[in-house]
Amino acid sequence: MRGPQSNTPNQPDLMDSAETARAKPSGSAECPVCGGTGAYFGCFGDTFYRVTDYRADLFRCATCRSHFIWPQPTREAIAAFYPTGYWREREASPGLLTRAQSRYVDLMLNWDLMSWVRRMNLPAGAHYLDIGCSRGDWLALIRRAGFQVEGIEADPRAAAYARDHHGISVSEVDVDEWSPEPGSYDAISFFHLLEHLRKPRRLLATCHGALRPGGKILLRVPNFSSWQGRLFGARWKGLEIPRHLLHFHPRALAALVEREGFVVERLSTWALRDGPPAAASSLYPDGEPTRREILGRQGAFPVLIYLGLTWMLTPLERLAALCGQGSMTTLIARRKGGA
Ligand SMILES: [Zn+2]
Repeated sequence: MRGPQSNTPNQPDLMDSAETARAKPSGSAECPVCGGTGAYFGCFGDTFYRVTDYRADLFRCATCRSHFIWPQPTREAIAAFYPTGYWREREASPGLLTRAQSRYVDLMLNWDLMSWVRRMNLPAGAHYLDIGCSRGDWLALIRRAGFQVEGIEADPRAAAYARDHHGISVSEVDVDEWSPEPGSYDAISFFHLLEHLRKPRRLLATCHGALRPGGKILLRVPNFSSWQGRLFGARWKGLEIPRHLLHFHPRALAALVEREGFVVERLSTWALRDGPPAAASSLYPDGEPTRREILGRQGAFPVLIYLGLTWMLTPLERLAALCGQGSMTTLIARRKGGA
């Protein structure tokens, strides 16, 4: 295995000097998940969306088996890693097949995520916050289930759509600067967010303070320790370096959440909405919808192949999840200190 490969010499401003200084010598670094020692795992670039030439060193923690980028890029550098449309904006005038695919994804999303909301067993009229709520389509669905909903969304256009189209209260605060009133919510969800954060513990601690006693968090992150992650390696869709700074091992995620004052109630690596598409995207990147938008790909044939692959791979991903090796980790945890 190669030694750590620093980012190219002309990119020193992309690294956080303070955190660079914390990196341990001889190819190891401190794990942001558990504080253990990570060993150099490999150097990876943005092979999937090809937005940036930035390459990052990935480390694997010997203690908790999570993977993490080190040194972490600065916030300014991270902003340049995100293509337009990354957070699921829609095409201005999509074709029939793209609309059908989008509708299919929405159905899967709604079925998958609402099943998790039901598993939280929230009281009627519960106050529900979704962080990274995008256009608010999902929050509108949750509202129909009888909850008071609210969102946080950094993209002003997506937030405006949620407000204007759905009438949902959405704050545009940066999640790193979010300081909610204590005890404001019964439930807080964040899907595919924690792996993007430089300081994931800070968000968990803020959520702990924002929840009422007995309130719950619901979150989902990719699982690089899954069969998919091991099979596809650098080609795995969920790896997404350098946008994903952290890859939590499922047990490490549970331990982290518990250290921040929660009790884990459910943990699963089965995700109908995200697991099979991640396998299809890894096998056949040219069919993945966001990548097609970013790279300006046209044509119906790749979309059909992609959908077919997604369906065919669903039983395999289900089997992987039954063995605890599914490609996405979803977790429900209850705030300690009340029923
Ligand atoms: Zn660790």
